[in-house]
Amino acid sequence: MRFNRSIIWFRNNLRLQDNEALVEGIQQSSEYILIYIFDEALWKDNPISMAHASQKRLTFLWQSVANLRESIFSLGGELIISKGNPEKVIEEMAAQYNCDAVFAPKEAGVYEQQSEERLEKVLTRKKIFFNTYAQNTLFHEEDIPWPIGKLPDVFTQFRKENEKQTAVRKLIKTPLEFSLSVKLNEKKVSALDVGISPEKPSAKSVLAFAGGEKEAWARLNHYFWEQDQLKNYKVTRNGLLGSDYSSKFSPWLALGCISPKSIYYEVMRYEAERVKNQSTYWLVFELIWRDYFHFVLKKFQKRLFHASGIKEEEVEWSSDEKIFKRWAAGETGVPFVDANMRELNETGYMSNRGRQNVASFLVKDLGIDWRMGAWYFEHALLDYDVASNWGNWAYVAGVGNDPRENRYFNILSQAKKYDPKGDYVRFWLPELKNVEGFNIHKIALLNKKEYLKQINGTKIDYFDPIVDMKKWDY
Ligand SMILES: Cc1cc2nc3c(=O)[nH]c(=O)nc-3n(C[C@H](O)[C@H](O)[C@H](O)COP(=O)(O)OP(=O)(O)OC[C@H]3O[C@@H](n4cnc5c(N)ncnc54)[C@H](O)[C@@H]3O)c2cc1C
Repeated sequence: MRFNRSIIWFRNNLRLQDNEALVEGIQQSSEYILIYIFDEALWKDNPISMAHASQKRLTFLWQSVANLRESIFSLGGELIISKGNPEKVIEEMAAQYNCDAVFAPKEAGVYEQQSEERLEKVLTRKKIFFNTYAQNTLFHEEDIPWPIGKLPDVFTQFRKENEKQTAVRKLIKTPLEFSLSVKLNEKKVSALDVGISPEKPSAKSVLAFAGGEKEAWARLNHYFWEQDQLKNYKVTRNGLLGSDYSSKFSPWLALGCISPKSIYYEVMRYEAERVKNQSTYWLVFELIWRDYFHFVLKKFQKRLFHASGIKEEEVEWSSDEKIFKRWAAGETGVPFVDANMRELNETGYMSNRGRQNVASFLVKDLGIDWRMGAWYFEHALLDYDVASNWGNWAYVAGVGNDPRENRYFNILSQAKKYDPKGDYVRFWLPELKNVEGFNIHKIALLNKKEYLKQINGTKIDYFDPIVDMKKWDY
């Protein structure tokens, strides 16, 4: 053994399977303390005066940590749960319990990386070994064909080169027991102790999302093996209603309850045992998108969070609060946008199609600073992932990695394509339920006679559109 007593620090790797930091910590230590620290910053306000994480997002996080604690306990170990400034907690703990090493995953976020760097300095001064492991992407950062600084600025090149030459590393063995885990026998921390009031999922949610490694695998088994939906993914992935139009893996991936490599090897097994087609390929394609945004963040770091984005494009953004709040509340009077925002607010989830539309509408139609949208998503999304969120927002805003100039989503033609009968909008905007078919999307464009006929004489309490919808051909 290299070390007498180590700290194994869980961050966005809340799993036992395929977890290099965990396994290295176990293998290199005579005994070890397992810990998760709720970062107090999640409760603090972001620049749009909202907590970084909503209670819904925190509920999912709590469930994931609690599930990990149960799994570790059932294998003879103890997971300490704490709250505070993670780097300070680790530093104090290492001193208090006389530890000589700390093992942790490497995080993508700039804030987290800065914290890692500070911690490394402090620990090294005290002769405590500190090592982090890159383990939340499909391709390992050391295996991709470029040094991070030379990463291509266009996704297609990134994907093609990696598909040609980068192998996905083997899965890391799952630990079978934790007999060397130090038991501090601390009081069993509850959600309320760390400031989380768990919320039940809305009955209207596409899925009753629950955090944890066990739930992640239950979802994968349901989607791949029981419902056999993977073979249809490419055709259904732009859906809006129901649980199985897409994988819904994102909240578990964001917290590392399951690794992209584990999903990849399950896709390979599905291709061998069931069918290999465009859909099975496409799920891996999307995981490569996820990787790409992670590496883009590594390359550009703080620049990704600037208004001018990685393109350093100076755009005059508005920060009109009134308009922004109407967008955020789903009160713009544009039904397709409002339905998606209301789904997000009530459930913490929104489809990829929805995200692209509401993001484009905020930045291209309303001219609002794209970062206000990204901060709002950071607060509200269960699956908030710093790289995927900021990378996608910058992309839609035209200051990211989109090689096409001026990509624009015409909301009515998108609605026509993806919600032609208006079922999705009817589900989320009950005040419009009497409006038939596609008319629900363009209620503001109907003449008075048509309008009265559509609403069947009932009074409708809905918003006047915030933009002139006549501009959209469909
Ligand atoms: C403005 C905007 C913000 C977004 N913010 C986030 C975010 O914070 N966290 C997040 O995980 N995804 C984000 N996405 C990407 C995407 O919308 C979600 O990953 C997807 O909708 C999650 O549903 P799913 O798991 O069913 O996806 P599936 O279609 O089943 O895809 C499988 C997995 O591939 C990955 N993936 C798919 N599309 C993308 C994409 N465009 N970018 C990166 N990864 C992708 C996800 O990990 C996803 O779980 C954002 C997209 C936009 C346009």
